Amino acid sequence: MNIIKDFLLQLTLIVIPIFIYFTFITERVNSDKNRKVIMSILWGISIFFCMSFPVSFGENARLDLRIIPLLFGSLYGKFSSAIFLSAFIIVYRLYFGISIGFYNTVLVLLLSLPVILYFQKAFAGSNKNKRVKIAVGLAFYYCLIGLTSFGVLRGFSLDYLKVQMIQLIFVVVVTWFLTILNEAISDIHQLRLELQNSEKLRVISELTSVFAHEIRNPMQVTRGFLQLLNEPDLSNEKKEYIQISIDELDRANEIINDFLSFGKPSVNNNERIEVGSQLQRVVKIIQSYSRSHNVEIKTDLFENCWIYGNSQKLNQCLINILKNAIESMPNGGIVWVICTSTNDGFIKIIIKDQGIGMTRMQMDRLGSPFYSLKENGTGLGMMVSFQIIRSFKGKVQVNSEKNMGTEFIILLPQIN
Ligand code: ADP
Ligand code: MG
Repeated sequence: MNIIKDFLLQLTLIVIPIFIYFTFITERVNSDKNRKVIMSILWGISIFFCMSFPVSFGENARLDLRIIPLLFGSLYGKFSSAIFLSAFIIVYRLYFGISIGFYNTVLVLLLSLPVILYFQKAFAGSNKNKRVKIAVGLAFYYCLIGLTSFGVLRGFSLDYLKVQMIQLIFVVVVTWFLTILNEAISDIHQLRLELQNSEKLRVISELTSVFAHEIRNPMQVTRGFLQLLNEPDLSNEKKEYIQISIDELDRANEIINDFLSFGKPSVNNNERIEVGSQLQRVVKIIQSYSRSHNVEIKTDLFENCWIYGNSQKLNQCLINILKNAIESMPNGGIVWVICTSTNDGFIKIIIKDQGIGMTRMQMDRLGSPFYSLKENGTGLGMMVSFQIIRSFKGKVQVNSEKNMGTEFIILLPQIN
């Protein structure tokens, strides 16, 4: 019974960091890096307590669940978190003295850490189900190694084996449960953020439409008077000034129009659009911009990709995504633009770059108002694009890997 009690204490020690993280850290600490550092420290503390109050069993045999904080710290953290936590385990184990147990710890870590690190990347890019599988698989692997090396170093005995089996089952079940718990809580947080975003969005679009009208009126009046001032007997220099003023006013007006266009739902100007030819136009529009960035745009466009929607909005959405793709490659490269139809009734647009890519955290925030990592960015492009795609009843999927590139897959309902 005592063994179970000890295991339950260990479980509590592991759950605490998860709750601390979601209650105090996710929303207050903005930088992804700082969050990971804090989390590594929390997992370190968890390991410290797990190892300080091990499952009491036999003389000199220390059993604990330190693998779980190590696993979580490594899979949800960075390469350096994994190294830090492993080093911490070894140093702290050293404090208990150099014995067979110490060698056992080092051996097990040496054999399991590379495997954990190997799966770290796959874990970061996986969906919920796959994450659970990876975490459980790694926990199982670690326990098997532990069990074997324990047996080899100390000799197999039935009693040891029994407790090791209990540990294996406990670790696997707890890892399974905690991964699901962690993913579920982070889903709920994500949902809450999205809700906040959509509220922000509503406020923005309301405000912009009010402001836009208020600003437009004085602008129209100014433009009118400027035109009146433009008399034939004015000097060329003055005429030029007036023309520049009018042009600038027109530009400001255009920006306001763009801004207004996403706030409102489109009114009755939907039409049949051929996505392929629309993409060709967009690529043409953006060509000079891509050339100035040393970026080549390669297209592969199927014909007869018809959808129903507003072509101006579609263009705006595609331009935003293409612009980001181009801007993600400061040293130039290739952007692929592909358009096909799928078997299940969608038009699939793929826009793929070889740029700087995004981390998972960055991808999660993509599309939030004012989220931008660029010096002169507005952080509105993706928000507008996502909203346009939603208004077309379409879907977007973003795949991205840091320093490898980003792929936007847009699915829009096809019509005949
Ligand atoms: P902005 O371009 O003004 O920064 P966006 O809403 O268009 O705003 O994009 C938001 C952020 O998303 C960008 O600052 C960038 O960090 C990231 N991003 C978007 N597309 C890509 C991409 N293709 N590759 C890398 N990062 C991207
Ligand atoms: Mg942009």
